[in-house]
Parts: sequence; C-alpha cells; structure tokens
Amino acid sequence: MSRVVPYHCPYCGDEDLRPHAESKGYECRSCARVFTVRFHGLAFDEAPTPSAIPAPEEETGDEPH
Ligand SMILES: [Zn+2]
Repeated sequence: MSRVVPYHCPYCGDEDLRPHAESKGYECRSCARVFTVRFHGLAFDEAPTPSAIPAPEEETGDEPH
C-alpha cells in the first residue's frame, strides 16, 4: 500500500509530523494542527481534471496582449 506522506506542515511548515489515527491524517507537533492529505492523481501523462486542480490566478489581470 502506498500512502501520501506530507513532508511538512501546510500551516506552519514544520516537518515534525506524526500520523493522526482518528482523522486518518497527520498532526503537526509544532502547531498542533491536524490535517489530511489527499492524493489527487499524477501530475503528468494523464489529463488532469480541471476541477481537481486549482488554476493559479495571474497577477496581470485580464488585459489582452
Ligand atoms: Zn504546523
């Protein structure tokens, strides 16, 4: 079985994480936040689902080039 293991806390960036059994996620030992990590799919080869990938907003606005 493969699990998605976060490398650092998405909130404070600390790497001191431990599995949180109750939520099936992870608990940050630094800021005590519990979060879950979901595997959305591979970012290459397969066509991504548009709704699954948030599109980054461009800072240039909607001015035509
Ligand atoms: Zn944290």
